[in-house]
Formats: sequence, C-alpha cells, structure tokens
Amino acid sequence: MTTTPRPPALRPLRWAALLACALGAAAHADEGDRPLRSDGVAATSAAVRSAPWSGPAYRRGVVAVANPYGAEAGAQILERGGNAIDAAVAIAYALNVVEPQSAGIGGGGFMMIHLAATGETFAIDTRETAPAAATPDMFVGVPSASLQGVAVGVPGMVRGTALALERYGQLPLRRVLQPAIRLADEGFAATPRYAAVSCNSRSQNSPEAAAFFCPGGAAPVAGSLVQNKPLAETLRLIARHGADCFYKYMPDKGCDIAKGIVEGQKFNRPQAPGGKGGSMDYADLEGYVPAIRAPIEASYRGFRIKAMAPPSSGALTMLQMLKFLERFPLGDATQGYGFGSVKTINVMADAMRLAFADRSIWMGDSDFVPVPAKGLLDPTYVGQRGAAIVPGTRLTPNPVPGDPRPFDVAGFQPGPRFASAEPVQGPGETTTHFSVIDRHGNMVSYTNTIESSHGIGVFAGYTNADGSFRNHGFLLNNELTDFNLAPTTNTFTGTPGFNDVQPRKRPRSSMTPAMIFTPGGRPLVAYGSPGGATIINSVLNVTLNLIDHKMPIQDAINAPRVSITGTGSGISLENGFPAATLEGLLALGYTYSVTDIGSVQAVLVNPVTGAQYGAADARREGTVIGLPR
Ligand code: GLU
Repeated sequence: MTTTPRPPALRPLRWAALLACALGAAAHADEGDRPLRSDGVAATSAAVRSAPWSGPAYRRGVVAVANPYGAEAGAQILERGGNAIDAAVAIAYALNVVEPQSAGIGGGGFMMIHLAATGETFAIDTRETAPAAATPDMFVGVPSASLQGVAVGVPGMVRGTALALERYGQLPLRRVLQPAIRLADEGFAATPRYAAVSCNSRSQNSPEAAAFFCPGGAAPVAGSLVQNKPLAETLRLIARHGADCFYKYMPDKGCDIAKGIVEGQKFNRPQAPGGKGGSMDYADLEGYVPAIRAPIEASYRGFRIKAMAPPSSGALTMLQMLKFLERFPLGDATQGYGFGSVKTINVMADAMRLAFADRSIWMGDSDFVPVPAKGLLDPTYVGQRGAAIVPGTRLTPNPVPGDPRPFDVAGFQPGPRFASAEPVQGPGETTTHFSVIDRHGNMVSYTNTIESSHGIGVFAGYTNADGSFRNHGFLLNNELTDFNLAPTTNTFTGTPGFNDVQPRKRPRSSMTPAMIFTPGGRPLVAYGSPGGATIINSVLNVTLNLIDHKMPIQDAINAPRVSITGTGSGISLENGFPAATLEGLLALGYTYSVTDIGSVQAVLVNPVTGAQYGAADARREGTVIGLPR
C-alpha cells in the first residue's frame, strides 16, 4: 500500500469552478445527443466575464509535465518561438532522459492535438505494432513474458513526433531535440522520484541497464548527476539525419540504431529458462507508420469531451461511464450525492464495472477488428445497460459484457484514418502524461509510455566484434504484453479475441489523452494520466470533479480518486475519503484497498479572454511553467 498526503492546492483557479458552474447551467438545456445550441459561446462569455479570476494566468503558453526538467524543456521551446506541437515533442524527448523508466523513443503513445487556427482536434497515434511474424500464441508458456524480448513492439515515437513536427510544428527536429540532447550529455541532478524508482528488479533485467540504473549496486542518490552519453549520441544521430536514422540500418551514415533495436529485442532473459526473444526485423522497423486518428467524442452535461479512439480503450470506456452517470445529479449533496459520498462512489463504481465488462471484449485495434464504437455509446444501448445502476444497491452478480452490435452500423469506423496482461495499478513509475498550450491557443494532450517501468529493462544496443557493447541509451518497451497473453475467442462473434495478437496490430491501450470543450465547441481543458487501466478512471474522476463538483482544476487533480478496472466489487481508492463513506461502501458489499491512482497534468484556457492556466499532480513531480515567466 502506498499513499501520498494530498498536497494543498498549488494554483487555485476559482474561475474554473464558476465557469464549470455556469456552463453546467447552460448545458442542462442542451443535454443528450441533440445538436449543440449555437449560443453556447454566449453563455460561456457571460460566465467567464463575471468570474473573479485568481491564480496565475498566462498569455504566451503553459506546460504541465510530471517532471521539472521536462517542463523546462517545453517552456524553452515555447520561448524560442516554437508552438505547442514543438514543445510537446521537446518534452517527450527530454522525458526519455529524465524519466527513462516511463517513456521514450523505445516506446509509443498518443499525442492529441487541437489546432486553434482550424478548430481541428485529432491524435497522432505512435502506438507500437506487433512484428509481422508475431502470433497469437507467442506468449504461451513464456515465463515472465513482460521481461523478454518477445514483448517488444515496433517503437512509434520517433516517426510519430517527426510527422507531428513536419505537419504542425514550426521548428525543425534538430532544434526541438536540443534540450534533450543537453540533458543527456551534460546531465541533470537526479530528482527524488528518479532516485526512488531507478533501481528495481526490472531495471536490473540486463547487465547494462543494471549498471546504469543501480550504479554500484544501489539506487542513485537524489541530487547526484545523471548523464546518459549513449542516449545523447543517439539523439544527435536522429537530429542530424531525421527519423529514418532510427528506423533504417544505414551504417554508411552512422545510423546503427535500428541494429540496436533488432538485436536488443532478441533478449532472452537468462534468469528465466524458456525465455523468448522477439521476432522484429529491419522490415518491421522500416514499415512503422504512425496514424492520425479522429478522437471519439460525446457530450456530458453539454460539454463536448474528446478522447483517444482505438487502439485505445480510453475514450470508449470513459465516455460510456459518463453516459451511464449523466442521469444522476452527482454534484447535488442535498440528494445524497456530492463529492466523496457513498451514493456518488456507489454509482461511479458500478458505472466502471459495466464499462470495463464491455471493454474486456469489444475493444482492440480497430484497424484489425470491428470495434462497435457507435453501438457502445448509442443512447439506447447505454440507457438499457446503465439501468442496472441503482443507487443504494451494489450491482450483483458481477456484470458481463453487453452486445452493442444491434446499435452499431456495419463497418462503422470510430474516426477516419488518414495515414490481458493488465498494466500495473496506481501511479507507479511508468508512463507519463503532459499537456501544453501555446500563445496561439494550440493545445496538446500527450500520454507516452514504454508500458512497464523500465520496459523490458534492456537498452537498445548490440555487441561489437571486439565484445564491447554498443549502447544506444534508451530502453526497449514491453508494450506487446498489453495484448491478450493467450489466444481467446470473442464469445459473441466466435472470432479470435479483439485484443489477441496479430501481425502489425497495435495492442489495446488504456491511455486516455482527453480534452473538454464548451457547449459551443471552444477548447477549455487538455488533460490525461498514466496508471495502466486506472488511467481511464483517473480521467473520469477529474472530469466529474470539474463538471459535477465544480472544483478548480488543481483541486480536481488533488482530490482522492476511486477506481475499479474490472467487474468485481473491489474498489481501489486513495486516502482522504471520510470514514463514513468507507463504512457505507462496505455496507453495500464493496471492499476497498487504499493506493495512489494516476498523475494528471492539465492546461486550461479561458475561452473568452484567452487567459491560460496549468495544474499538475503532486503524486509525482508535477510542474507547471507559464509564460511569460
Ligand atoms: N501500456 C499501458 C497502456 O497503454 C500504459 C501503461 C501504464 O500506464 O501503466 O494502457
């Protein structure tokens, strides 16, 4: 059991409460799936003008990152003329250096972008893919599969971020990489969190990683200098030659990173006889293509909520929960609801159980399987299924998946594509979420990961002819263990499980980069979280805190969270709920365990004045930098 005392509100933003309140009032007239009222913006204007603004407001951009060096990298790029996309890419690379256990160029993620000029919102999907030779049974009988080379997916971050810069950035890759190169080359003072999570069993899976993360056999001391010269050299290669230097073996140019990945993922864990290397080859790497995907969106009390489409289960699960909950007045304490009441957590818990039942069977990579995205959010389907939630009772027996197909459209795609090993619980050490807004109002909500802490615990690299190790300085992901670990059958369709391994397929994710828009469609908040399947619930908790409980954003992040990521009655919750609530939940037949959940970073914009705000999570080393400083 790990706990973190709730921090005081770092940047109280009372305006957010008032804005949410007024928008909520405006939105009630606009509920359901009817077209949004055209006067939504007018309602927003009135609400915002009357709000007593407090807390730091900025005009030239804000970054909210789970690490101070990452935040600084993003702020510097904004100050040097970069836009939110440039800053986000700079942050992602910098975090590879300073938060290497969480994410980096050996992995992938989802970068949701809102462009102020066009009003478009979309996501660049850099999720890892299975190699062409991958098979549904490739994990069967493999001990500690998530620590073996067979778990490594084809990394997507480098090509996806290069695409983002080419299409939507203002600065060249080589400039955007400078903060990360400097951090790797000159080093940084280990933060308390870096020191605390550096040396663990995963990071000691290979000798090179053990030497780096547990120097001298022990965790580095906070404040000590951490340098990663091999990573600096890798980043310089990418800066000089572009993304192809990562994906193609071109020794004439000095581009040998692809060789380091292909050789590295052959890792066969010596500690576990029967271990298994991966099948990735140069063609798999060369063939990696990021996707640009439309988000999945729905209204919630009139707000437009947009979040990550498949291969993530994030949007579909979170939006389904919101739709289940929309009929309960969660903010109204006079009716027994309100933040942290038994009644509120009761309906939240059962909404989670229902949605996670559907998630377990219907969600996967929609480029490969027919995810019934429309049916899962269809008002009739949601209404029928959600009727099982009855305040004052616990849903029994445990829910099973429903059948949304009659409510779907044959061949329906959740969005245009232009181009059961559940992850760990709690905030843990892995995955990272950051949010950015720039002076133009462009916003980015980016969740990035190598799956488990330190991935497979192996650096990309290969053994030279002289026996020395050519180290590329970044960790390889274990993302493929987000697939079902053994072949399954979808009991409704009779076909292989939607999240079974298939060649070139992306494993189902829980990452839920999200954005909230006014009823009139203007951006308000960009946010998201790490935390495995709990990600979806962290984003749900913060959404309810903002819209129903009308909390300022920092309070919405600080508030204790609740999570169920399955169909059972065991609730994970954070410290801070009243004893009477816990007793009330036990009386309804739930059990609970106390743990930390998630790490949310958010940026906000006042849609009328353009003033910008940020909020970050003290569960990790959340840092907000607003500009001008
Ligand atoms: N690999 C996980 C996912 O895509 C994220 C890992 C985590 O946050 O623990 O859902």
